Amino acid sequence: MSELPVYLDYAATTPVDPRVAARMAQVLSSDAEFGNAASSTHHYGDVAAASIESARAQVAAAVGAQADEVIFTSGATEANNLAIFGVARYYQDRGRHIVTSRTEHKSVLDPCAELERRGWKVTYLVPAHGGIVDAAQLAAALRPDTVLVSLMQVNNEIGVMHDLPALAEVCAQHGDTYLHVDAAQAVGKCSVNFAAAGVDLMSLSAHKAYGPKGVGALLVSKRGGRGAPSGVVGGSASGGAPGTGRKAPVHLSPLQLGGGQEHGMRSGTLATHQIAGFGLAFELANETLATELCRITDLRDRLWRGLQAIGGVLRNGDAQRAVPHLLNVSFEGVEGESLLAAVSTRIAVSTGSACTSATQEPSYVLRALGRSERASESSLRFGLGRFTAVRDVDTAISVLSQEVPRLRRIAGHRYAGHRVGGHRVAGPGIAGA
Ligand code: PMP
Repeated sequence: MSELPVYLDYAATTPVDPRVAARMAQVLSSDAEFGNAASSTHHYGDVAAASIESARAQVAAAVGAQADEVIFTSGATEANNLAIFGVARYYQDRGRHIVTSRTEHKSVLDPCAELERRGWKVTYLVPAHGGIVDAAQLAAALRPDTVLVSLMQVNNEIGVMHDLPALAEVCAQHGDTYLHVDAAQAVGKCSVNFAAAGVDLMSLSAHKAYGPKGVGALLVSKRGGRGAPSGVVGGSASGGAPGTGRKAPVHLSPLQLGGGQEHGMRSGTLATHQIAGFGLAFELANETLATELCRITDLRDRLWRGLQAIGGVLRNGDAQRAVPHLLNVSFEGVEGESLLAAVSTRIAVSTGSACTSATQEPSYVLRALGRSERASESSLRFGLGRFTAVRDVDTAISVLSQEVPRLRRIAGHRYAGHRVGGHRVAGPGIAGA
């Protein structure tokens, strides 16, 4: 069999860590853990429930939350839907305005668009060219009827990180405007602390952090705003006092009804093996974070130096605010799709989010950052991770150093001024045809 391409698409998904796979296999093959966690009348149900609670504690500890704030879902897509529709339904009589940004994942943008069709107003913030929404920009967008702000912690295409405490502070100063954060790309790539950041709702996904696909969580804060009483359940939707910086804990209306699992917020029999894998994956991600950050930073810098040497390349997103695991680069004079086709047998990379790759359109994230259609079309996203080695990065550099100039020659491309998308680009020039 021919050799597999080098995997450099860790932002789309990560391989399951062998320790996680072993834990999942243990649950699946156990004589006792196969029970239904809701079967409280016998041993088998109790064993499954204990496994789930232990995984819940692992997930919570990894992200600075309490165990009873974790609602297991099928992934971050479901968690984003539950946060947005759940808050919208619960608070619809208090206000019908949501703030988000143009660079969010589709599982945030599409629910917002659906709410617009139902008469809600949505403000789409346009981040600065580096990809960041700042606190002042958010403050200016809030209105008396704003019930929810939804912004991601780490962008899935360019890797830039938002300053969550600053954004949470803006929401806290605005009475009961709740902050939802899609942190699907953050765990294992930067520090994630739900409580310390002052976030009300947070979406998580196991498969971006070496866990299985098909499981994730929505964290729902029990703490309320600074100084507010905690643990209020089933309270009124009227909320706390605007401008006091004290708010009531967030509430949701469930989207999925049935057996009342997960405090009634997400009915359905819990998938013990998936959840056990998720718990261990998050524990491992946290344990290895510090060493991984150094190692991946070195790999990313090596990759970027190698690509710069090709010439006519532009890095997308604010480099100072990005996790090292993601490098998004536009190659002048080359179409991303042609480049992908030319390299795909040797390296597995993408032009952007896997969730939008079916559309073949230039990245809406790069377009929102002011990149030209051409520059957006000529970009590749490199995702590095736990199993990436120096030789993998070197293979990518060597393949691209071959293919980019070749495709430029075919296109008859010549560049002198080294401009991509209106921005000056790095690296030496190359001769054209
Ligand atoms: N949000 C972000 C930022 C993502 O990158 C992804 C995965 N592409 C999702 C949400 C969806 O996560 P899941 O695959 O767990 O549904």
